[in-house]
Amino acid sequence: MKIRLAGEISTDSVVDGEGLRSVVWCQGCIHNCPGCHNPETHSFESGILKEVSEVCDEIASLEFQDGITLSGGDPMCQVDACLEIAKFCHSIGLNVWCYTGYTIEALLKRSKKEKNMKEFLENIDVLVDSPFIMELKSYDVPFRGSSNQRLIDSKRSVLLDEVVLYKK
Ligand code: SF4
Repeated sequence: MKIRLAGEISTDSVVDGEGLRSVVWCQGCIHNCPGCHNPETHSFESGILKEVSEVCDEIASLEFQDGITLSGGDPMCQVDACLEIAKFCHSIGLNVWCYTGYTIEALLKRSKKEKNMKEFLENIDVLVDSPFIMELKSYDVPFRGSSNQRLIDSKRSVLLDEVVLYKK
């Protein structure tokens, strides 16, 4: 299975979730949020295609990282590949954060019909949801760009079929 990426994995980030993290930059996003910081990641044609196994090998070789963050672009546009990466991360003891422009409510709805979506949500430790809204841009919301975005306990949200906010 292949995944379309916007570039190489970034390491040692402290702004893309808790702890020291590496970021997998997915290529492709449908949301077109005005003011998006990564407009070059929107196209579904550009970027680089990589085997998921190759990405997992790279993740396995990382040192001193607490977890992996799936960002982009929107990882929800490549659910199967991101699910494999998330499962691999957990298998080697790395936690998984994921950014998306969708709301958790919309994803929970999709998860009722799409088995892979349900499984992906169950394999995300923290989901940072909702589109970036320029008018709500804020520096006071850790790990987010605008105040409408939420840190979601993804697994418990699936389990309870309701929005469960992440609490440290
Ligand atoms: S969801 Fe994220 S990557 Fe996509 S347009 Fe919005 S801010 Fe940019």
